[in-house]
Amino acid sequence: MRKKLIPYPTDAWAVLLIFATFAGQMGLYLFVNDVRFLVAGMVALMPFCLSVVAYNHNHMHVRTFTNQPLNRILETLIFLETGSSPFSGTLNHIVGHHASYDKPELDTLNWRRRDGSTMGRHEFAIRSLLWHYPSCFVLGRQNARLLQQFLAYLVLGGGALAALLVYRPIPALIVFVVPMLLMLYALKWSAYAHHAGLPYGDDYTASRTNTGRFYNWFTWNAGYHAAHHFKQALHWTLLPEYHERELATKIPAELQGPGWGEELKRRSMTPAAQRQ
Ligand SMILES: [Zn+2]
Repeated sequence: MRKKLIPYPTDAWAVLLIFATFAGQMGLYLFVNDVRFLVAGMVALMPFCLSVVAYNHNHMHVRTFTNQPLNRILETLIFLETGSSPFSGTLNHIVGHHASYDKPELDTLNWRRRDGSTMGRHEFAIRSLLWHYPSCFVLGRQNARLLQQFLAYLVLGGGALAALLVYRPIPALIVFVVPMLLMLYALKWSAYAHHAGLPYGDDYTASRTNTGRFYNWFTWNAGYHAAHHFKQALHWTLLPEYHERELATKIPAELQGPGWGEELKRRSMTPAAQRQ
């Protein structure tokens, strides 16, 4: 039997979002000259780009299409919307975080300072952002095939961005470069809530779960983080059910609910160990 092009039909909405956002970017880039309108258009596209940031995380775990060239086209558009190039997430996030989130010295989303204290949210976001691309080269040493794919699409995506910059520099800066940097920052900033301040004990206590309805609608179920760490290959549509069935009764109450937890709202966090 032939495999479906999009195995999970809900993902078609994400494909539509990604193509529509790119069409919006190109419309601004090609037809708007006034810097004020370019900035206004870019700001209007921000929520869409943010949602793509969250969807990209799902896509790198479970590819949207069964056809690989289509996945690469989608990822190239995602790169121009979020700053995260094809396979950079695979190396930085899947190899660098999922395999090592219990080992601070290897984790690409390490929230601990050298002295063991917890970084502030912006400090974490800036450090993780700066480490996003360099980490791919470091982790790629052990993953030659991934490194090759990462480099090939970095050259391709970087080349496309360079061409956009050469043709119309100011619109390209406002419509592509600035949002790409902002979205990379948003990606890392949002990841802070997943583990920061939680000592690694086991998979039930090492991450937070946000069950908020709007949050999970907007982020394609990014709130179900513990479930995602238990089953990183499980499609995002199946995470809430898995959380309810297998995890909800085993995860401490303060690590799940319709938000990321009160301690994150405070400027300086108390380590979870001190709360016990
Ligand atoms: Zn993940």
